[in-house]
Amino acid sequence: MQDYPDPVPGPDQVVVRVHAAALNHLDLFVREGIPTLKLTLPHILGSDGAGHIASVGSDVTDLEVGDRVVLNPGISCGRCEYCVKGDDSACVDYRILGEHLPGTYAEQVAVPARNALKIPTDLSFEAAAAAPLAFMTAWRMLVGRAKVRPGEDVLILGAGAGLSTAAIQVAKLAGCTVFVTSSTDEKLQKAKALGADVLVNYKAVPWSKAVWELTGRRGVDVIVDHVGPATFKDSVRTLRKGGRVVVPGATTGSMLELDARYLFWRQLSVLGSTMANQREFEEVMKLVFMGRLKPVVDRVFPLKDARAAHEYLGRGEQFGKVVLAIP
Ligand SMILES: [Zn+2]
Repeated sequence: MQDYPDPVPGPDQVVVRVHAAALNHLDLFVREGIPTLKLTLPHILGSDGAGHIASVGSDVTDLEVGDRVVLNPGISCGRCEYCVKGDDSACVDYRILGEHLPGTYAEQVAVPARNALKIPTDLSFEAAAAAPLAFMTAWRMLVGRAKVRPGEDVLILGAGAGLSTAAIQVAKLAGCTVFVTSSTDEKLQKAKALGADVLVNYKAVPWSKAVWELTGRRGVDVIVDHVGPATFKDSVRTLRKGGRVVVPGATTGSMLELDARYLFWRQLSVLGSTMANQREFEEVMKLVFMGRLKPVVDRVFPLKDARAAHEYLGRGEQFGKVVLAIP
């Protein structure tokens, strides 16, 4: 471990004294090395964070020292054709805290002022830090991309993932019937407490067949598959005609097998989705602030135990977010 100099805010930036950071699978990928990502080492991990404003740049007018804030981890250029259309996460220079930029496993981090959003006094830093990446991703993929409608059947694979705990709640809020899969009944019961309607233990039964039968051999309208090669083939087989599978990541590899006969005969849509734009971030965080969506914190580790926290997340035993407390 070594000490960094404290960051100094640029004119349109703020420096945040981080009190809590949340882990994402992305942190594990960055730690292991992403072939296309060139980093200067040492590098600070961490996309999600919450804390208070420690200093503000000369052009910042809407935030003050001491404000409690949560961070939007996606940083866009504001000038390219996608940014001009408000589609921040498609920015040609889109960067994510902890991936392309120094992250939140730190006492202080500098971000553009627009990336810091004030949080209500009754929301803890741990809960706030657990929200952004999972909820913004869930919101965009289900509401913005899959365009879920009330009454639809939505299947979310791997209920214990932080993203899944957010997606279950977003799909319920949208009026959908939520199917989930998990490896243990304990996690399935926790998913039920979040609102999941139909529980499938994939260690006990082949999940695709089970869901097919549970829907009267119709299939579901939407599937969230962040698992990838291990599940994608079955996901496609589990969709109804006109169904959509949304892919916000792939934790088991990068190549997906797609049977073209299912694709055209059932007229399916495969939708990629990543992060969210500023409007979507603010929409979903407002619902978190109102208590309509609740960040699920599985376990809090002190920052010095970040390694143990990574090992814990890597084993996939968690239900919800793993958080680092920064004293
Ligand atoms: Zn841009």
